[in-house]
Amino acid sequence: MKKSQKKMLLRIISAAVITLILLITDRFIPAWYIKLLLYMIPYLITGYDVLKKAFHGIRNKQVFDENFLMTVATLGAIAVGISNALNGGDDDYLEAVAVMLLYQTGELFQSVAVGKSRKNISSLMDIRPDYANLEGEDKTVTKVDPDEVEIGSIIVVNPGEKIPLDGIIREGTSTLNTSALTGESIPVDVFEGYEVLSGTINLSGVLRIETTADFDGSTASKILELVENAASRKSKSEGFISKFARYYTPIVCICALALALLPPVFLALSGKDPMIFTWIYRACTFLVISCPCAVVISIPLSFFAGLGGASGCGILIKGSNFLETLSKVKYVVFDKTGTLTHGTFEVTALHHSPLAAEELFKYAAHIEGHSSHPIALSIKKAYKKEIDLNLVKDIKEISGKGIMGTVDGHAVAAGNAALMQELKIDYKDCHHTGTIIHMALDGSYAGHIVISDTIKAGSKDAITALKRAGIKKTIMLTGDSEKVAENVAKTVGIDEYHAALLPDEKVQNVEQILKTKAPGEALAFAGDGINDAPVLSISDIGIAMGALGSDAAIEAADVVLMDDDPKKIVKAIRISKKCLGIVHQNLIFSISVKVICLILGAVGIANMWIAILADVGVMILAVLNAIRALFVKNL
Ligand code: ADP
Ligand code: MG
Repeated sequence: MKKSQKKMLLRIISAAVITLILLITDRFIPAWYIKLLLYMIPYLITGYDVLKKAFHGIRNKQVFDENFLMTVATLGAIAVGISNALNGGDDDYLEAVAVMLLYQTGELFQSVAVGKSRKNISSLMDIRPDYANLEGEDKTVTKVDPDEVEIGSIIVVNPGEKIPLDGIIREGTSTLNTSALTGESIPVDVFEGYEVLSGTINLSGVLRIETTADFDGSTASKILELVENAASRKSKSEGFISKFARYYTPIVCICALALALLPPVFLALSGKDPMIFTWIYRACTFLVISCPCAVVISIPLSFFAGLGGASGCGILIKGSNFLETLSKVKYVVFDKTGTLTHGTFEVTALHHSPLAAEELFKYAAHIEGHSSHPIALSIKKAYKKEIDLNLVKDIKEISGKGIMGTVDGHAVAAGNAALMQELKIDYKDCHHTGTIIHMALDGSYAGHIVISDTIKAGSKDAITALKRAGIKKTIMLTGDSEKVAENVAKTVGIDEYHAALLPDEKVQNVEQILKTKAPGEALAFAGDGINDAPVLSISDIGIAMGALGSDAAIEAADVVLMDDDPKKIVKAIRISKKCLGIVHQNLIFSISVKVICLILGAVGIANMWIAILADVGVMILAVLNAIRALFVKNL
């Protein structure tokens, strides 16, 4: 509990004790005004801030909120008590005090619950690094703020410590716990040359790491920022709540006023006792009941818990609005490379080259030198030797086709058949199943490299699970050749595929589906974030895969899957369905209890006691229900 919460608890307890004493000593109190003064003590101890806020609200012309409702209702109850006393009747101020006490107890409960789910938000508090062990020139190690470490510094991470900044291991082997980032608890083996991410925990060996990012650029900071912003993006349901409140509260106040005035006037006109205080009391009860706390609180809290639960599983959702859209997804469109497949290619063959393999590879690796395309990364890895980027000039990368430029003074082009056609180079087809990288050197064909990718272990299960979760159609779009696409599509069981697409053709394909889908259905696109930013942005919801460390993806997508696992798409959909289910349960439950109590209050069956108990009770149940959205590990 925070300090302010502890203070609130103390206020509630002391006010409750005083009230209890007053209740016992009630008949020894000589006069009604002394009794009133005595009861005002616990009333003000618990409720002074409510009165203050209501007063501020009136001054700032934002009258209608729950503080106003509580203030009017409790002051009204006190007024009824005074009038009873003046008429020699039974004076009762307990009700006002009790209403305030219960209301504040409910508020306290809610603030503790919100605090809990905030903490739970993916144990994300855990990934924020506290310090870094910076190694100086003379090999001495000092503890510094991670903010002060520059890129390219050497830091030492001991077993049990959190890795504070992204970097590359220069010395040491160890295992890492990446669960705070990926939700997977299986430790990862790391060794010299391995790229590590901040926020993971070093388990066994001492590591010397050369940093590749500063504090703000590191994964941990970026994720924290993303999650912190997520809570501020409102869903439609939340927008509905604030609109609802804008109309609801004034309407309720007018109804209460009508309830206080109309029946007495009507009764007086028909010559009966107007029972004016009875009706004021009923109007006050009506106000207490109408307080929309449960709805107002539990809905944002449900989304908050849903976002937290998802990030605990390595699924970062950038806002409640996206969490809501996810539950409506009926079409899932996949990119192939890096999404359904690993995106790490093995070189499997080399054909029709007039050059020595070594020579051809040198050109291939250099021309791809600056590219971050999965193909480029794989070719560079296969080359194994040093790449001299000074030799490479005039690079032009053509999305969906390939790359061209000069290497060591020779014009080099590497890419698919479409690129060769564009350059009017007579290329030779290949009968191998695999991605074919045709090469051209100084304007003539220099053979092709066959590389092949492996399908991710989870891809097939992901497609099956999506079907079971009620997805209408799964579609794969790829810039790769028909043969490769067919092979992947058949293996994983995807419904439809389109091959040899350029990035803008992918956009057209997605637009086509967007046009034909029914209203209320959503389309999700899952890609690795490399050259599919346009598609990610036109889809109803963009999901980026394998995003650990890839900035482009983290920025373009609405949902980021921290590990490459396509099965997490289904999980994200299930989480969103659970969360929205809870939101709807809470809405229906709290609104219907409200309506019943309002009617009972208006006709005088429910008194203020029942009203406040119902209200606080509904709120506590709704908040507890909302917190269920956090528990999604086993969905
Ligand atoms: P995908 O849709 O599978 O993600 P891309 O649209 O990124 O594929 O690329 C489509 C095709 O264009 C690749 O299969 C490859 O043949 C060619 N290509 C794209 N970029 C490069 C590159 N940097 N080097 C060689 N070939 C490339
Ligand atoms: Mg791609």
